[in-house]
Amino acid sequence: MIQALRGTRDILPEEIVYWQLIERTAKDILSKAAFQEIRVPIFEQTALFERGIGEATDVVGKEMYTFTSRGGKTSITLRPEGTAGVARSYIQNKLQAQGGVQRLWYTGPMFRYERPQAGRQRQFHQIGLELIGSNAPRADVEAIAVATDILKALGLKNLSLAINSVGRGEDRQKYRETLLTYLEPYKEELDADSRDRLERNPLRILDSKDQRTQEIAQDAPKIIDSLSDSSKKHFDAVLQMLTDLEIAYQIDHCLVRGLDYYTHTAFEIKSSDLGAQATVCGGGRYDGLIAELGGAETPAIGWAMGIERLVILLQELAQVSVDAPDLYFVSRGEQAEAQALTLAQKLRQSGLAVELDLSGSAFGKQFKRADRSGAVACLVLGDAEAETRSVNLKWLASGEQSTMTQTEVLQGIETLKNKISALH
Ligand code: ATP
Ligand code: MG
Repeated sequence: MIQALRGTRDILPEEIVYWQLIERTAKDILSKAAFQEIRVPIFEQTALFERGIGEATDVVGKEMYTFTSRGGKTSITLRPEGTAGVARSYIQNKLQAQGGVQRLWYTGPMFRYERPQAGRQRQFHQIGLELIGSNAPRADVEAIAVATDILKALGLKNLSLAINSVGRGEDRQKYRETLLTYLEPYKEELDADSRDRLERNPLRILDSKDQRTQEIAQDAPKIIDSLSDSSKKHFDAVLQMLTDLEIAYQIDHCLVRGLDYYTHTAFEIKSSDLGAQATVCGGGRYDGLIAELGGAETPAIGWAMGIERLVILLQELAQVSVDAPDLYFVSRGEQAEAQALTLAQKLRQSGLAVELDLSGSAFGKQFKRADRSGAVACLVLGDAEAETRSVNLKWLASGEQSTMTQTEVLQGIETLKNKISALH
């Protein structure tokens, strides 16, 4: 039998309710903050991610799903994240010409070749926000505040916000030297990946998952001590506004995002209920990206949340069940089945949720399914009802029932709807 590929999974109806809750909640809060949805392609030219994410990162170096187009000319990659595509779209569609700041969000699948484990898959899903065109510290804070609002609205607890500043390119260049000098005597003790990074991407050594490397990183000089006055001022302003908004944070000196285009603010929101894959939201400022991709110098800040990890947290927290229909329609016999379909369609068009039993099985079996469906009432149409174009309506909780013509049901639809919503 053909199975789903490793690192991919099916999201079945009993789980999808959590996804829908997350999507609804996020969309509601994003709309209140005047963010608009953007949908960009799931595959792009590989060059977009190489330039936009940086070749020295794990994402580009090890995790991309890359293949050649059938024509053999173009290298294509399944998007590993959303920001590069949104930035490309911003440039290509000249969104800057509309002036001011673009407030965008997206959701959809992302693809990374990783070792699958709880909360880590090869096809996973993100909701992300991009606030493009402002270099003001308050843009950073607004982006973070919208993220914390979404998590709060979902009822998630035990979350913590870690924040750092990686400054600008010049600050990082300076810090790179300081860090390399510090790491020199520990060279041999670093894990293999980190030794590799000494040349290419030494800042990433700070967020190594290796225990000994972490101990070494703990005592490393802090990047915020290498910041220029203006970078420091930006960071301080962000922290002050977070305090004003009563958003708690800890500065994490080892927090450096994996992506090269990040400047200034970097942050992560973690849950203590998730084990190893604890980060539910990661983001930061990326003032360098849009120019790197050929657009005008454009400051921006964004974040992305991993939906799978939010689902894991929500499932522990709350019981969300699949939506029950209002009415369950039982029918049997050729005439009756045909009339039931017609009536079900009319009831649906009047705004009721109707599940039509298509099994053709004995009434008893259909009634059992009606009980299990969670519907408030059951409609029954057999040969006798078909003969007189009537239908039997049975309230499942009380057992109370009445027979009326199909026309009467439709004429009394408002009364029926009111009674149903009172019982749900
Ligand atoms: P991690 O350290 O967990 O690998 P990351 O730094 O690679 O995270 P980002 O690129 O910042 O993650 O992506 C933002 C969010 O997307 C993460 O915080 C996480 O919630 C989610 N995410 C990233 N990779 C995966 C994955 N392979 N499976 C499920 N969720 C993921
Ligand atoms: Mg990762």
